[in-house]
Amino acid sequence: MFTSVQHLFIASTLLTTASLVQASHQCAADRVSLQVLGSGGPEFTDNRASSSYLISLDNRARIMVDAGAGSSINFEKSGAKIQDLDAILFTHLHVDHSADLPAFIKASFFTPRRSDLQVFGPAGNRVMPSTTAFIRKNFGPEGSYSYLQNFVEPDQRSAYKIQATDVPLTPHEVSNHSLNDDISLQAIPVNHGPIAATAWRVNIAGCSISFTGDMSNQYKTFGTLAKNSDIIVAHNAIPQGAGGVAARLHMQPSDIGVIAAETNPGKLVLSHRMNRSLGKETQTEAEIRKHYDGNIIFADDLDVIQPASH
Ligand SMILES: [Zn+2]
Repeated sequence: MFTSVQHLFIASTLLTTASLVQASHQCAADRVSLQVLGSGGPEFTDNRASSSYLISLDNRARIMVDAGAGSSINFEKSGAKIQDLDAILFTHLHVDHSADLPAFIKASFFTPRRSDLQVFGPAGNRVMPSTTAFIRKNFGPEGSYSYLQNFVEPDQRSAYKIQATDVPLTPHEVSNHSLNDDISLQAIPVNHGPIAATAWRVNIAGCSISFTGDMSNQYKTFGTLAKNSDIIVAHNAIPQGAGGVAARLHMQPSDIGVIAAETNPGKLVLSHRMNRSLGKETQTEAEIRKHYDGNIIFADDLDVIQPASH
């Protein structure tokens, strides 16, 4: 049996800039909001939850992007309801982006949720499992949390099923996923060193919110995905001039500036703030300002950001 999402799945479709521009011009900005559930990285000394974002329509949380450690407590503080979520999107499966997923699934048992939960994330590579394998390794009959296997292998106790989808990692190609009448999703592979990773664009009520996830911008393809997004969330994990492994995994602020100039977001949100980038906001903003003169927001946990017309 195919799900509606699988029926509507259109693999590897290149988008035209015209269709993206049209989508951004119809944004119902007063109906859509982005809430930052986690503005930090994996450190325990940044006083922030790890990466996670919530997108709401008409005050109902519909999409969660990443579920890093601490996101579940901030989800609770946000007042969102697990039964309202249509889908969870993973940019990649590092601990600081995925560790709280089992907590969300267990908590859903105590809610009225009855509709299947879509989970989208990257296909696997030699370093990382695919998203479908990640779900199976967590919740399958042989998984770490096999006592929750009725969420992946439904039986009479099951309230709903997790429907996992692997997003292809075909270089330079956008994949489209039509979720329902309100929401469509788009992803493109990005370079995060050897880690399987994608950026996401969420199109909701005519608004577009795009997420770089963790990436080095080595592929230079984020602009293809995120052109004219109302909000772009870019990960500011390193300061300008960082080198070594960190620079192979993450964008310099100057890269973020180039991306912002290329995509022209209504608002640019800087998140995934770590000890090495915290305290460097003046320098970081100056680097970005060389390329982009729009609205820059340094994210904190539980910030609520609404789309801006531009
Ligand atoms: Zn990260």
